[in-house]
Order: sequence, then C-alpha cells, then structure tokens
Amino acid sequence: MFPKEITKTLKLFGYFNPHEVSEAVLLLAQLGDKARVLAGGTDLIHTMRLRQITPEYLINIKDIVNLNYLKENAGLEMGALTRISTIKESEIIKQKYISIYEATEWFGSPQVRNMATVGGNICRSSPSSDLIPPLMTLGAVLKLVGPRGERKVLLEDFLLRAGKTLLDQEILTSIFVPPMGKNSGTAFKKLIRSSQDLAKVSCAVNISVEGGRCRDIIIALGAVADKVFRAKKAENILRNEEITDEKIKDVAQRASQEAQPITDVRSTATYRSHVIKVLVERLVRLSIERAEGKCG
Ligand SMILES: Cc1cc2nc3c(=O)[nH]c(=O)nc-3n(C[C@H](O)[C@H](O)[C@H](O)COP(=O)(O)OP(=O)(O)OC[C@H]3O[C@@H](n4cnc5c(N)ncnc54)[C@H](O)[C@@H]3O)c2cc1C
Repeated sequence: MFPKEITKTLKLFGYFNPHEVSEAVLLLAQLGDKARVLAGGTDLIHTMRLRQITPEYLINIKDIVNLNYLKENAGLEMGALTRISTIKESEIIKQKYISIYEATEWFGSPQVRNMATVGGNICRSSPSSDLIPPLMTLGAVLKLVGPRGERKVLLEDFLLRAGKTLLDQEILTSIFVPPMGKNSGTAFKKLIRSSQDLAKVSCAVNISVEGGRCRDIIIALGAVADKVFRAKKAENILRNEEITDEKIKDVAQRASQEAQPITDVRSTATYRSHVIKVLVERLVRLSIERAEGKCG
C-alpha cells in the first residue's frame, strides 16, 4: 500500500510543449515561478503528487530537438535529455568514463532509467543524485540557456543546496566532461538499503598518479550533507604527495570529518559517518589501481 498522500491526484496545471530551447526560455521568462520544467518527470510528478510543489504550469522540454545525444567531442558531451538507460548502454561511457557507468548500474529500475534524464538528475540537486558525484569529480561543465543568453558553469558551483541550484529562469541544455587525464583512474559506489533505493551514502573519486605520487585527486561525497560536495581537505592530504597506506587512511578519516550526515529514513548519522570512511578508502585504492592499469 502506498501512503495516502502518494495516491493523491495531481492538481490541474497548464501544459506547454515547446519544440525549441528559445521557445521554452520565453515561456519560463513569462511564467516565472508559476512554471516548472518537465523532463523525464520521474521526480517532478512524484513531488507534485505529494503536494510538495504545485506549479500552475509545466513546460515539457522532451520534444525539444537536439537535447538528446551523447557523443565524444574533445571530451564527452551529453544533451540534458539523455536518458540514464542510454548512458548505461554507451560503450564510450563504459570504456572511458567508468565512474559514470557505475553510477547508472544501480540507478532505479529499467522503467525509471528509460524515463529519467541526466539533466533532471542534476537540476533536482538531491544529495543522493547518483550522477552528480562522478560528474563532479570529472570536472563537468553545464551549459545553461536563459532570457539573458547562455552561460557555462562548473557543476561544482551549480549546486546550492538540496533542491536549489543556480538556475534562474534557465534550462540546462548540455553537460561537457573534459577528457580524462593520462594515468587517471575513477570509481563510484553508492550504498543502498535495497535495490532501486536512493543512496544512503555515495562517493566518487578521480585520481591521477605518476611514479607512486598523486598528481591530482578529486573526491565527491553524496547523501552526507545538504548537497553533493567535494571533500577538499581530504584531497589536499594526497595531492602532490607520495601515495602511502597511511595517507590513504588519513584521506578517508578527513573525508568523514568533512561530511555532515543526518539521521533519516535511510540511515543514521553515526552509520553514515563511519561508512563514508570505509567507502572513501576503498574507492581511492580502486581508482589508483585503475590509474595504474592494474584493473578495469
Ligand atoms: C522509483 C524511483 C527510483 C529512483 N531511483 C533513483 C536512483 O537510483 N538514483 C537517482 O539519482 N535518482 C533516482 N530517482 C530520482 C529521479 O528519477 C532522478 O533524479 C532522475 O534523473 C530525474 O530526472 P527526470 O528527467 O525524471 O527529472 P524531472 O522529474 O523531469 O525533473 C526534476 C527537476 O529538474 C528540473 N529539470 C529537469 N530537467 C531540466 C533541465 N534540462 N533544465 C532545467 N531544469 C530541469 C525540473 O523542473 C524538476 O525540478 C528515482 C526516482 C524514482 C521515482
């Protein structure tokens, strides 16, 4: 049985179906806060059913041409409407951006993955969004288009807090991931209560190594603060340093200190604090092995 609130029917709303980004942007500018962008709808419709939001208008962007693609273009470029299932099945992603692939492996059900878009996953700014940690560690850049033109922002700067981003009557149109550096390795993992659940803790790592030293490292943590964030103090322990067992343990310990987990329906703050340490240590080791070509 679903809780009573979830079975509520949707409140009536006006519906627009633009075919061009410019048309959608114009609608957003005219309707302001009364309107919401609809992509896959896997999150938006659910929150509307729960009456957490009750927009007067929906602007369905799914029929906009040229926002649904995944290609290599001196890096990786994805249209905002690219489905999670497309990312999961992409050979480019599997071969070259393994942490992004790992984020799709346990993402919802096939039905959810066929509807949900990468843009929706980012714009929702959930601390437990699966694609944000790997994309953040890879230095993803977002293209936003609005009434004042277009701008590019780092994913890391885009997220303000849970459910809140830099979007200002704008549409996210594409995501660019710079090419992976030489001798780089990445990894992502989330811990879940059961399949198809949101993460109770997640982590992504991107490291580049050379002759036993760490040239650079980026660590992103999910579901342990009010947004996905970089554990920068932990990164600083290893950046430009010789890689030792002790330093990896210090990195994990410091990352856990940077987290600000809460207790909720998925886990307790105590468990999250403990397990983030374990996860960071394992993923740093796995990323190093991948960077050194010791495993796939
Ligand atoms: C059963 C179930 C399981 C799920 N499992 C997972 C999971 O394992 N991992 C996970 O991360 N998430 C999960 N989710 C959450 C959700 O499916 C994803 O976050 C999904 O990627 C959202 O994308 P969407 O296209 O459906 O977004 P929508 O629901 O259409 O939109 C989400 C938000 O983003 C805004 N938005 C969407 N696209 C744009 C754009 N291009 N420009 C500007 N604003 C935009 C919308 O206005 C809305 O506020 C699950 C949801 C369900 C119902």
